[in-house]
Amino acid sequence: MGAAIGIDLGTTNTVVAHCANGETRVLLDETGANLLPSVVSHLPDGRVAVGRDARKRRVIDAENTFFSIKRLIGRQWGTPEVERARAGFPFKMKEGPKKQAMVVSRAGEFTLPAISAMVIKRAKEIAEAALGQPVDKAVVTVPANFNDLQRSATRRAAKEAGLDVLRILNEPTAAALAYGLGAQGSERLAIYDFGGGTFDLTLLEVSDDVVEVIATAGDSFLGGDDVDMTIEGQIARAIIAQTRLDPRTSTEVMALIRAASEHLKIQLSDNETARVELKAIGYGEGGVPINFPYELSRTQLERLAKPFVDKTLAVCNDALRSSKLDLRDFNSVILVGGSTRMPYVQERVEAWFGRPPRIDWNPDEVVAVGAAILATMLTGKGSERPAPPPPRAPAIPRLRTPMFDTMPVAVPAPPPPPPSEPIATHRPHTNPPLPAGPAAPMAPSIFPVAPEGDGPLLIDVTPLTLGVEVLGGQVDPIIARNTSVPCTRTRRFATSTENQRELLLRVCQGEDPRAANNTSLGELIVTELPPARRGDLWIEVSFQLDADGILNVSAKDETSGREVKAQMRVGGVS
Ligand code: AMP
Repeated sequence: MGAAIGIDLGTTNTVVAHCANGETRVLLDETGANLLPSVVSHLPDGRVAVGRDARKRRVIDAENTFFSIKRLIGRQWGTPEVERARAGFPFKMKEGPKKQAMVVSRAGEFTLPAISAMVIKRAKEIAEAALGQPVDKAVVTVPANFNDLQRSATRRAAKEAGLDVLRILNEPTAAALAYGLGAQGSERLAIYDFGGGTFDLTLLEVSDDVVEVIATAGDSFLGGDDVDMTIEGQIARAIIAQTRLDPRTSTEVMALIRAASEHLKIQLSDNETARVELKAIGYGEGGVPINFPYELSRTQLERLAKPFVDKTLAVCNDALRSSKLDLRDFNSVILVGGSTRMPYVQERVEAWFGRPPRIDWNPDEVVAVGAAILATMLTGKGSERPAPPPPRAPAIPRLRTPMFDTMPVAVPAPPPPPPSEPIATHRPHTNPPLPAGPAAPMAPSIFPVAPEGDGPLLIDVTPLTLGVEVLGGQVDPIIARNTSVPCTRTRRFATSTENQRELLLRVCQGEDPRAANNTSLGELIVTELPPARRGDLWIEVSFQLDADGILNVSAKDETSGREVKAQMRVGGVS
């Protein structure tokens, strides 16, 4: 039997951890790196680069290098989220046969779970090399506000990578497992998780044996990437103003600017000012390369980051309101995710919560650690209570910034000087070789995590309301937001025409009263209804939400008591 690991499949980086014999550790790759960039690049020779090698190619082969896939996994083509992300991606996307978003490279067309599977497969390899044994099971984490489609797609990615998925676990719950295990008495924690592409705040109660989610709220389109994009826009405008070059016409130069933007942001977590030199963004008269220096101060960065940090605090407000608790009811606020390394974020969090945040564990690793702890419990190897690794506070390892390290890439030979062209041109697109290397009718149920009762109870909630579309395009909520999972809710629906043979229910997820403004999960078709007068036939529809947040729907014809066939046609999952 192979080992079980915890995988934090991040928008930006993936982290893998393992827990055995009471010891939990983050597994490092052969170079000693703890972070595996969630980047996949299809090389001209047919090989696939994953991780750091792939990330280097974001600058030099942007059209064939996929990143931030987690932002779109499980989303349907044409949704505002997909449209927005597409606008910022240098690679091509297209609509798949199941209306899902797909990516296109020189190697062909790929579903998003297929790309994520490549990252997970690499994480599995890292784990196998570090542990010296095969790995075949994993707990994989997802943002708390991931919907059903996103969770299913993530599960599918892990399966495609050859892993038996023990549990799809919410990231904040994983962090709470790492922080909360061994807690003396009961503590209320707020987990502020600000990563590359997503933000969520989760309020939990943790005691020695129970991790209970009280409320969660989030935004799956809010993260450090937004800050990078804002800096990127500012640099692009400066280039246009000063050089008459329009960098927006070159995906390659834009990728370089994006890398420089993130580098500046990261540098400004430790310095008051930071500077980059963008090399050969174009060629001037006589083929002379044009370099562009750019400097940013921490104060300027804070101004650019403010709208995004404001948004995170609005989400905090929303979560707190729905918990019906007061800030004073919480013992600690815990920082998770790379973007919490920004001093400005820490200051704003401290001011909002009225206390300094805790960063006992490396914010990049804590989620994987929690996932590994749960993996051990679920495989029954937690007889000895697994402990998180020893705290490393206050020293937090610096994130490597290899993307920017690659910026002084060998500049391709300049194109022959234009005969008499005074305006600069962009450097050509080249592919250099890869460098080495409603009121709830039923009481919510709870579930034990560890099979033999040797782990804590995990009481999680569903982050978004699940409902069906009714007449007039309104939503009839069936499972309310922040209901503990797993749970089952039922609702009765009547036929609306004479001798109606089918009942169609559109299932959606979200808080908007209008169905069209929420995420459509699919359609439930109840077929083979017996002939009956309009309104005489009642169908009892049951929504069952499992511990992974995955929805199963069943339906029963009440008149005859007969189970009728119900089919969930879930779009967007592939
Ligand atoms: P995660 O999704 O948790 O891996 O976080 C990735 C995000 O954290 C990216 O937007 C990074 O640019 C950002 N990040 C990582 N390290 C730092 C740092 N030292 N200062 C500011 N942002 C950082």
